[in-house]
Amino acid sequence: MSDKFDVIVIGAGPAGYVAAIRAAQLGLKTACVDAFAGKDGKQALGGTCLNVGCIPSKALLDSSRQFHNLTHNFAVHGISADNPRIDVATFVGRKDKIVKQFTGGVSQLFKANKITPFFGTGKLLKGNSVEVTAPDGGKQTISATNVILASGSVPIELPFAKFDGKNIVDNAGALDLTEVPKRLGVIGAGVIGLELGSVWKRLGADVTILEALPDFLSVADADVAKIAAREFAKQGLTIKLGAKLTKADVKKNEVELTYEDKDGAHQLTVDKLLVAVGRRAYTTGLLADDTGVKLDERGRIVVDEHNHTGVDGVWAIGDAVRGPMLAHKGSEEGVAVAEWIAGKAGHINYDTIPWVIYTEPEIAWAGKTEKELKDAGIPYKVGTFPFAAIGRAVAMNEAVGQVKMLAHAETDRLLGVHMVGPGVSELIAEAVVTMEFKGSAEDLARIVHAHPTLSEAVHEAALSVDKRAIHKGN
Ligand code: FAD
Ligand code: NAD
Repeated sequence: MSDKFDVIVIGAGPAGYVAAIRAAQLGLKTACVDAFAGKDGKQALGGTCLNVGCIPSKALLDSSRQFHNLTHNFAVHGISADNPRIDVATFVGRKDKIVKQFTGGVSQLFKANKITPFFGTGKLLKGNSVEVTAPDGGKQTISATNVILASGSVPIELPFAKFDGKNIVDNAGALDLTEVPKRLGVIGAGVIGLELGSVWKRLGADVTILEALPDFLSVADADVAKIAAREFAKQGLTIKLGAKLTKADVKKNEVELTYEDKDGAHQLTVDKLLVAVGRRAYTTGLLADDTGVKLDERGRIVVDEHNHTGVDGVWAIGDAVRGPMLAHKGSEEGVAVAEWIAGKAGHINYDTIPWVIYTEPEIAWAGKTEKELKDAGIPYKVGTFPFAAIGRAVAMNEAVGQVKMLAHAETDRLLGVHMVGPGVSELIAEAVVTMEFKGSAEDLARIVHAHPTLSEAVHEAALSVDKRAIHKGN
């Protein structure tokens, strides 16, 4: 079969499927090729995010949070239950249902937008054709004026701790354990290690996280990282810093780990090991040799500021290109590229992309950290406000953490907002909007915030930049 489209997207993760929908909205004849198969072997659109990433991890985080509250936090409200138990099959099954609902939802959106889906592996050929290899090996070639590469990323594998899907698992394996491991080892105290480590800790696993770097959560603002580390320690998550794994031997359904830190070599035996040491762009089989599309030293597809590869009509977006590996970053790139293809003015502001870590407490930030401002020699003022002084947070019994705001010392322009505490995954949006509109701390300070809400912490932190917070000493 030969067919000609305006746009072919390879990859239906949050970058690719959003690009396809936006392209179709703009009147472009669009196809999307994706190889991901769900547990039933059928095509499951939505990529890492919907199948084995954002959505399933949040489903398990939410279920495990309910269980943890029942077993640890409800007593203070006068609520008790006898012998609470967790049924792991139901716990994981609920997650699977949510995944199916959302991957099916993308199929429905494709139908509604008249996007043609192809199930299989897409390879870009010279001249903007795409060879699609179906799961049964059948091949067909389709072509388009524009091709958007959105092939995403895969977990990095350590050569001495290879994934076996049973004892040594990646994110997908850690979302599908059939029982709560007695001892869970995690390599990497990054976003996945903290989120999935928290899930199984809340259900009763003894969780030890080994992190190679000497500093905890060094991508976040140092104050936020310090508060988060203290809270995780209180929850019983063991995080060993400066700890490099050197060996992982699977023996009789256990994994014997050897790691080194400043005090020398140590042994640790666990039942399951989650390796979460980062992800790498995935381009295996994506490009014929003569396409002209280039990869950088980290294997990412090289693109310019408009996500164009330099090859006529070939674009790339999402985890497969530079920038943070976040679903919303990829989606916005998808929208922008579709708009550029249609001759419109696409827009992405990489300076205001929010980060959220869905632990307890949640962590969220946007803009510059204090260290980044210091290193860049930018003069700044700091305002902070603790959730301990927020009535709503105390009423919820979740009065942990703070909001920290960084504003330019002379212009008062908001440069960075760093939060750790209840509901901050939602509160960060206010900071993003303010920064997007180049607002100041005073702008936020003059906006009426409802009482009693968690958002009052944002308001008070903005007031605190000017040393006029009402409910704390300045
Ligand atoms: P992907 O989602 O990886 O999708 C790429 C798709 O392309 C896949 O379906 C793949 O099968 C397909 N593909 C690849 N090559 C080919 C080919 N040659 N032919 C056909 N198909 C191909 N981000 C957040 O913003 N928030 C979160 O809470 C969050 N949680 C996460 C939790 C976990 C456990 C993980 C692993 C990731 C999480 N992420 C989160 C990151 C997020 O999932 C990624 O940033 C996002 O999925 C990247 O989107 P993408 O479309 O670029 O690629
Ligand atoms: P990460 O980059 O967040 O963390 C990896 C950690 O592993 C780092 O702290 C790193 O220092 C450490 N590390 C690397 N090699 C090591 C080694 N040999 N031994 C011990 N530690 C080692 O990566 P991740 O947690 O795998 O997640 C991948 C990406 O997926 C994230 O960067 C993020 O972009 C995305 N993600 C986002 C969310 C979210 O937005 N909430 C959730 C999960 C994943």
